[in-house]
Amino acid sequence: MEIGEKIYGFEVKEKKYVREVEGDIIQMEHLSTGAQVVVIDNQDVKKSFLVGFRTIPKDSTGVFHILEHSVLNGSRRYPDKATFVNLMKHSMAEFVNAITYPDHTVYPFCTENEKDFMNLMDVYLNAVFCPNVLTDKEIFEQEGWHFQCEDGKAPEINGVVYNEMKGVFSSLDSILEDEMSKAMFPETAYRFVAGGFPDTIPALSYEEFLEYYRTFYNASNCCIVLYGRMNTEQLFEYIDKVYLGKMKRSKPAKPVMLQKPVKRIRNKLYDKEKFGDQGVFASCTYSLGDFDNRERMNAVYILMQAIMGEDEAPMKKGLIQSLGIPEIQYFIMDGIRQPYLAVKIKNTDKETAGRLKTVITEQADRLCREGIGEEVLVSAINRLEFWMREKGGSRPEGIEYVLDIADGWAQGTGPCEMIEFEETYVKMRTLVKEGYFESLLREILLENAHEAEAYLEPLEKAEEKGKEEETEDLPGLSADDLLHKKDEPLTRAEEESGITYLRQEIPSKGVAYQSCYFDISDLKPEKVPYAKLFSELLGSLPTRTHSLEELVIEKNMWLGNARAYLEAYTNADDIRHVRLKFVMDISCLEQNLPRAVKLGEELLYDTILEQPEIILKRIRQSRMELERGFVTSGNSYASGRAAAHYMLEGAARERYNGIHYYQFLGKLLKNFDADQGQIIRELKEIQEKLCRKSNLVMSFTGTEKAYGDFRQLIAASGFCGSAREREPGWYQDKLLPGKSEAFIIPSEVSYVALGGIGEYTGKDYLLGRMVSFDYLWAKIRAEGGAYGCQMSVLPNQSWTMSSYRDPNVKRTIEAFRNTSSWLKDLELGEQELLNYKIGAVAGYDRTPKTYVQAKRMDSWYLRQEEPQVRAKVREGLLKASEEDLKNRRQAMESFAGEGTVCVLGNRARIEEAAGQFDNVTVLME
Ligand SMILES: [Zn+2]
Repeated sequence: MEIGEKIYGFEVKEKKYVREVEGDIIQMEHLSTGAQVVVIDNQDVKKSFLVGFRTIPKDSTGVFHILEHSVLNGSRRYPDKATFVNLMKHSMAEFVNAITYPDHTVYPFCTENEKDFMNLMDVYLNAVFCPNVLTDKEIFEQEGWHFQCEDGKAPEINGVVYNEMKGVFSSLDSILEDEMSKAMFPETAYRFVAGGFPDTIPALSYEEFLEYYRTFYNASNCCIVLYGRMNTEQLFEYIDKVYLGKMKRSKPAKPVMLQKPVKRIRNKLYDKEKFGDQGVFASCTYSLGDFDNRERMNAVYILMQAIMGEDEAPMKKGLIQSLGIPEIQYFIMDGIRQPYLAVKIKNTDKETAGRLKTVITEQADRLCREGIGEEVLVSAINRLEFWMREKGGSRPEGIEYVLDIADGWAQGTGPCEMIEFEETYVKMRTLVKEGYFESLLREILLENAHEAEAYLEPLEKAEEKGKEEETEDLPGLSADDLLHKKDEPLTRAEEESGITYLRQEIPSKGVAYQSCYFDISDLKPEKVPYAKLFSELLGSLPTRTHSLEELVIEKNMWLGNARAYLEAYTNADDIRHVRLKFVMDISCLEQNLPRAVKLGEELLYDTILEQPEIILKRIRQSRMELERGFVTSGNSYASGRAAAHYMLEGAARERYNGIHYYQFLGKLLKNFDADQGQIIRELKEIQEKLCRKSNLVMSFTGTEKAYGDFRQLIAASGFCGSAREREPGWYQDKLLPGKSEAFIIPSEVSYVALGGIGEYTGKDYLLGRMVSFDYLWAKIRAEGGAYGCQMSVLPNQSWTMSSYRDPNVKRTIEAFRNTSSWLKDLELGEQELLNYKIGAVAGYDRTPKTYVQAKRMDSWYLRQEEPQVRAKVREGLLKASEEDLKNRRQAMESFAGEGTVCVLGNRARIEEAAGQFDNVTVLME
């Protein structure tokens, strides 16, 4: 393809080789409609696709969010309402999603399989261009909002988006964010809640909804992005012939208009009865200029990482000290026409909140005068460059790229500007010496004409206030597509000087990953939370060779990521056999390996624990993080808590990761002054235990040469000389008593979990997916209005069902308990069964990112799970017949009927179901 060339109704406008993606970026336009297409033509087998529209809201009814949900509920060629859920269960896709942003909506997916790519692309294009919601009002009502009447009760509003947004606005963080947008953009579309404000959603009528669809979902307002190794000509032909070529040209939507500079302050009261007393929240926001200036935006990211990225970073440290608070956060709102920076504090008092702005100004002014420091800036540049290269995170790389390009397109910024960073980084390194970052800081924080403040305060009393066309089933893959099975990468295990080395043979792009596993299975259960606290403290305390400030710089300069934590591993042969490990993961660029090994050793063995103030701060932070977790992902805490009732691994996890740990931290906090000496002694005991290095396992992923270096470095380090015990013991603990519990949290929605022991076979794995996508989806999501639901069947033999952002509690528990009756009436048919198998086996075979794969392989080794086990599960899954699945009814009945229930959620909903629980606890006030 060359510039000016015309291919199937498209014309090539620009083409450029871009090193960051190792391929060409090609910009094209569809001639008759003006639709924009961007192709990233490289050799990545993980092919990605995105279709997107500019969607500019005129109010907070969430119309584009409801559209996003609705178009995925069946289309002309794929009329099944469950299209989207079917995609998840039928296709090999690794990523299938749809996202509504403040000014655009995108539908991206990623798959490794060529045929699957064609199928999915057609499903996506059919969904956005020919959705059934245009003629089927019920879809709008189910996804958007409707009245629901139950006998003897007043009608209530229900709907998937309505409930989802109620969940979002149960968090004061979301409310504060909304206030920030309103303050920054009083005159533009960004003052609206694009996802929908719960009380405003019911103002949207079906007719208006259709009108919005016609205005915004058309070819001239659309952008398509293709990424990876594929036959593009064939795709263009198809897209033109079946879709774009049949459409008329209309006017594309314009990007959101620019807000002229304003200075605003907004104050809002929140209802203390509804949210609990969470103190005062405050934020100061600063405009960062135009999205289009990506070089400046890159510089802003570096600047903020340097001065605010760590507790010890110069600005953050100054703010925390001057305000006398434990924590302060910042974030950069990017991806909108005028990005902004926000600095916020929460759970504070009015007086402190009132000083925030002044203190920011003082600190910025000090840094501008004294200078930020070359070392701090260079280390921030190194760190961001590591992130850009590694492209960590859970999403495939291709998805990151297509989303970035769509962000750019929505704001009128070209694709290359969104992807290229190498030159900018070279330039940034030279600018460090020229005072560039100090003047940038001055422009943003001291001389900004466009800025705002927003405050939330508790209020004592509650506030008053038709042509026939052939239809098709979802295009499926055939049984042949399943036969191909990738070989598993190998683990090479070797022993030397008492240490077991695992070399994980996976390619890793110049990055080295190392993990140390210390066995702490003989720890008494009540000491486990101290080990966790110790792991959380590493890196926030000074060491014998470095002050905290120096340590932070060292870490940023030489390490990619460093993390210590606890993990329990259930033995593959017997679930009563659990090992507890203290784990430290470190990644770095390979050339920095010597420094990384040294730093790891220093963190573990030379950390100075006599720092009560820092320990106190850490305890507060960990509690805050857990509280955030309870409200935003209560499902995982509910499932985890349930597991503590029926399996040893669950009991261990609860001590270091769950409600138990949260309550443990609460107790420490209460008597901290009196007990600090004892707490420090407990932590020291943990440190000494790790120094004995019993049964140390070290895993390494990187090149062969780096591995050789690694072995030498370890042999010469303090890690060497592990105390080997032939028969290390198993972790001992008691299970929690009782069968059901509920915890009240300040939230409008709830999280319900049911868990128990089950078998882990191919059949059961398949069954778990079917329960998720067929039964739970219909009962809990479509009928019940919850945002999500899932059944998981795990290798540790734990079965769990859970709901996410659920308006119900009682009804959900009943639905869980009744699962086996659904299984009794199940009628699948060959094709449907095959479809399930495809989705299940794809999930099983997927190639994860390097560090995820390495961790997974470590866990196979530590759990003593043989490759045959996985091969057998895979085979069992593929061979399962409908009869086999129905035969699992007995197992399902005892699991669903007798499993442990745990709920985190809304007080009223829990109280309605009080009879179901052994005990109800108020977890957060
Ligand atoms: Zn949604």
